Parts: sequence; structure tokens; C-alpha cells
Amino acid sequence: MEPVIVQRANHNISRKNISSAAVKVLYRLKEEGFTAYLAGGGVRDLLLERNPKDFDVATDATPEQIRRIFRNCRLVGRRFRLAHVLFRGETIETSTFRAPVPEDESTHCENTFRTSETGFVERDNIFGTPEQDALRRDFTINALFYNISDFTLIDYAGGLKDLEERVVRVIGDPDRRFAEDPVRMIRAARFAGTLGFDIEPAAYDAICRNKELLAHASSSRMYEEVQKLFFCGHAKEVFLWLERTDLLHPMFHDFSHWIDEDKARHDWVIHTLEQMDRWRKAGLRVHPALLFALIFGEYHEFLASRLEEEGQSPQDAARNAVQEHLRGMCDNVRVPKQVIFQVGDIMANQGRFHRTKGRHPARFLHNKGFLDAFLYFKFASRAHDRNLDLLEHWVVLHREQHGKGERA
Ligand code: ATP
Ligand code: MG
Repeated sequence: MEPVIVQRANHNISRKNISSAAVKVLYRLKEEGFTAYLAGGGVRDLLLERNPKDFDVATDATPEQIRRIFRNCRLVGRRFRLAHVLFRGETIETSTFRAPVPEDESTHCENTFRTSETGFVERDNIFGTPEQDALRRDFTINALFYNISDFTLIDYAGGLKDLEERVVRVIGDPDRRFAEDPVRMIRAARFAGTLGFDIEPAAYDAICRNKELLAHASSSRMYEEVQKLFFCGHAKEVFLWLERTDLLHPMFHDFSHWIDEDKARHDWVIHTLEQMDRWRKAGLRVHPALLFALIFGEYHEFLASRLEEEGQSPQDAARNAVQEHLRGMCDNVRVPKQVIFQVGDIMANQGRFHRTKGRHPARFLHNKGFLDAFLYFKFASRAHDRNLDLLEHWVVLHREQHGKGERA
């Protein structure tokens, strides 16, 4: 199929807006005689006049050839072999054009391609043409190329029209593409939420039909993806899409059923996500443990109260509630042990805010877990309109402590 080509005069992408590292990689490949395109989310975001998170390059140079050209280069990836070209503060992911997943796997040899019984792609490493590379991407808006040799845009999949119409459309048959890689369903919700786009109806219906396939996705990839969902700066919108598409149930099984029981529980989650988005906009880094402590906070408190009724101490109950829930979630979304432990710490430390006498406050203020616990305490107190006097007391103590620290 002939692509739509848009000349430089008719689009808004300028080299000025591409990171200098990416421009260097593109030019270097071109000088060596290779085709070099800017690809993926970077092109999409530049066309939407948004700030791209990162820039990816697609080329006909093989990983080995890329390595020979760039000294500052590392080959990575088991599933796909690709090159990371390293610059100070920035890595440019540079990958060789890839072929699509073949219709009939028997035509391909075992070591280049294999699908599991559900149609899930386990290994693919076949190089292809630019067109094939575009069409194996997930959504049309993610399949645009910017050609460094003549500054044109190349559109094989109809992405330009979909950018204009503001829809997330799957390339090819949505049922097949979601079966190949169920994580694409979550990505659809993320892009719709982040960009303020709609999910095109055929894709939406396919998500509803295929959502249970998420159980087959790799739990460590799901963990990566979950972080992207909630750290993207539009976590609330993304969450609303996860609810609308009902992806929340296969992702967070017990938690989502618990939310369904009471509208107020839903409000807590939305409230925490709004807070996350404010922090992101203010440029603050929120680490995963604080994210999980906040989002699941009310649920963990609920589980802990049941354990307390069974006779556990408040501290044990808080820690065990977190362990029980997050470990159970690991089949689906593999939260690292260290993160689970830190979430447990944040919750187990909440009781310490009620001890305001003697040397305890001074000791707690110096504890390395204090700040996260305090952020949670502040957030929960305000959200539930509880412990407000106590909160004020700790705000003052913390301010005094901070003042002392600065003078020291
Ligand atoms: P972000 O702004 O989050 O970086 P992105 O579109 O750049 O969004 P990446 O995860 O960085 O997303 O992936 C880069 C590109 O690789 C995508 O734009 C898409 O073309 C392709 N891609 C990524 N994940 C998949 C997938 N699961 N299936 C098919 N193509 C994918
Ligand atoms: Mg990207």
C-alpha cells in the first residue's frame, strides 16, 4: 500500500522540537546510508503540540550495524533485539524495522516466532520493511514516521486522520491484535485518557470481549504498565477509561469488586488520582510505594480493620492487610517485594501519629519512613475530614523540625 506522504511545508514538526540526541542518531544513520525515521509516540506528540516523553528511532540498519556506528550503544531486549544509544541524560531507543506477526506461524521457524495457545506472541525478531514496521504497531496514531532525509511525514496506517478525529484506533483486527498482546488494551485506555481521545467503537467492543486475556499478560510488564497509567499526569482520566472499558476488574480483581460495593469508595480513588496528577504537574516525583499506598489506602484500611477484629494489633493488622492484598495481586501485576514492604511501612506507621507525648514524636520525625507516612496521613485526614487537630499538631512539629534542619 502507498503511504500518505506529507511534505515539510504542510506539517508542524520541526527539528527544533526534537531532542538533539535523537536528531544526532537520525543524521548519523542517514550519513551511513541507512533509512532513519523518528517513530512512535514522539511523532504523535509533536503533531499534537505536546511534549514527547521520549524519542524513538526506526531504521533499516540491523542492531549489529547500529552498534558499529555508535560507540555509546547497548543492545538490549530478549523479545526484540534493539539498540539503546546513550547520551548524557537521554537514551534513544533505536530499532530495526520489524515484520508483522505472521498469520500462519507454521511458515516461520521456531526460533524466530512462537505463539502460545491463546495467540500470545512470545518471541519475534524478524526484520521487515518500513510499511510492515508501521503496521505491526498498536494504534494508528502511534504508527507515523518522520523522515530525516526530507523532513516528510509518512503515514501507512491512517494515523493522521485519526489524530484529527481524536480517536484511538487499533491497526488491523482488534480481536487479533489484543490476543497477540493483551497489554495493548490497557495502552488504549492510557492513550485515550492522556490525549483526551475516544476509543474507536470496534476497539472498544474488542476490549469488552477480550479483557479476560489480561490474565495471560506478563505480570512484570503489567507492573510497568500500571505505573505508566498512574504516573502519566492524567491518572484520573485514565482510571475513568479503565472503569468504562471494565479493564479494572481483570487488573485489580478484589479491589475493584470492593469499590463496586459503595460509591464513596470510588470517590476516594478519584480523589487520590487527582492528587497524583497535581503532584505530577508540579513536577514532583511520586515513588511507587506512595502511589500504591494512596490508591489502595482505603481498601487496606478496611482489610486491616477486619484483621483487628480478629485480634491482631493495629500495626500487625495494617502490615498484614497490605501483604495479603498486594501479594495476592502479584499473579496479575507483580509488585516488587520491596515496594510491598514500603507500603506496609506507610500503613503500619499511621498509628504513630496518635502518640504525641514524650520522646516519641521527635523519634518518629527522624525516622526515614516519616515523610511518606506523613503524606499519607495528611491526605487521608483531609479526604475523610478526620484527625484534623492531630494533623495540625504534626504539621507544626514537622515545620519546626524542618526549620531546625535547614539552620543546621
Ligand atoms: P509514551 O508517550 O507513553 O512514551 P509511546 O507511544 O511512545 O507513548 P512506547 O511504549 O514508548 O509508547 O512505545 C513506542 C512505540 O512502540 C509506540 O508508539 C508504538 O508504535 C510501539 N509499541 C509500543 N508498545 C507496543 C505494543 N504493545 N504493540 C505494538 N506496538 C507497540
Ligand atoms: Mg515513548
